[in-house]
Amino acid sequence: CGIVAYLGHREACPIILKGLHRLEYRGYDSAGVALLNGDLNVYKKKGKVSDLEAYIAEKDTHATVGMGHTRWATHGEPNDENAHPHYSTSERIAIIHNGIIENYAALKKHLQQQGHVFHSDTDTEVFVNLIEEIQKQNSCSLEEAVRLALHEVVGAYAIVVLSKDAPNQLIAARKGSPMVIGIGDGEFFIASDATPIIEYTNEVVYVNDYEIVMIRDGQLNIRTKEDVSQTPYIQKLELEL
Ligand code: GLU
Repeated sequence: CGIVAYLGHREACPIILKGLHRLEYRGYDSAGVALLNGDLNVYKKKGKVSDLEAYIAEKDTHATVGMGHTRWATHGEPNDENAHPHYSTSERIAIIHNGIIENYAALKKHLQQQGHVFHSDTDTEVFVNLIEEIQKQNSCSLEEAVRLALHEVVGAYAIVVLSKDAPNQLIAARKGSPMVIGIGDGEFFIASDATPIIEYTNEVVYVNDYEIVMIRDGQLNIRTKEDVSQTPYIQKLELEL
């Protein structure tokens, strides 16, 4: 189980796939990517990262913003549908998630009553629909919807969220599952640990529990779940490549 995301000036997909390979040691049963290039395309497969690579070889993967995931199933068997990323009902928002949402069953019932449609057995698909519902009800930004959603979910998570309506933006948050941000020259990386990042930059920020990361307009902003702005603490990694 691992996450990788990229926003910058390079092709995102090769960077993400390479990053997923570096996280393979963590163990997983399926893998997937979401790529944002006007469209928000999700490609996912049960099996190895190499199976995903074979699957997307013929697809349009052109994008400079994207995210990828390796899954270790906790809710729902390992199959293509349960693999991440997951779309919201409108297919305008996508999420990757490491961790467990403990109160997903109650949230799911509520969201189904509000018309949300589910395609997987995962706890994660509830999270992305919750964000969509909150954004709709509050007519708020995606970042604010993610922040409000964190007050509703119980459990552990490292998430990255992409929206078709926010074309050059990455939003991430964590509680209990690890997350590191890499800061390059006009480009940003998010990963479960530094191994997918060190090749590109040695400047990293370790995200703390209950923090929301917003990457947009060449800027990294971090706020707490209580909406208090945090100054990112940038550390220099001294790892041998
Ligand atoms: N609970 C989620 C699922 O079963 C995420 C598992 C993970 O951390 O990979 O899909």
